[in-house]
Amino acid sequence: MADRPPDTIGGMAFWLLARTSRIRQHPEAAHIAASITRAAARAQRAIDLPPEGLYAGPCGTCGRPLYVRAAAVTVTCARHDPPWSGDVASRREWMLSESVHVLVHAAAADSRLGAPGVRVAHAALIRWGGEGRLA
Ligand SMILES: [Zn+2]
Repeated sequence: MADRPPDTIGGMAFWLLARTSRIRQHPEAAHIAASITRAAARAQRAIDLPPEGLYAGPCGTCGRPLYVRAAAVTVTCARHDPPWSGDVASRREWMLSESVHVLVHAAAADSRLGAPGVRVAHAALIRWGGEGRLA
């Protein structure tokens, strides 16, 4: 069959985009739209995984992102001499106050909110974004 999409994600997306009016008229349009929406959501979940550990803010010396385990009291960056250390609870309070007007993707928001102890399900962030409740 000559009218098949290329076997790449980008190729398939362009192939579908070029046929949206034809797809809208198709008897299975609702099923097609639901399948594409589910596939896009699965792909997003697969690539938007938060980094391991909780984000503890940037290093006070070099500015690199620091991560800690959930129960950590202190965060340390040993990439330089002397190492930099900070109190995790204070950093979490600071990050929460600094996060109010920061625009980030869902995985970063999940990690950023999780660091100061605010648990929001990743799916809720995606849903709120789709509903226009986050901006
Ligand atoms: Zn550092």
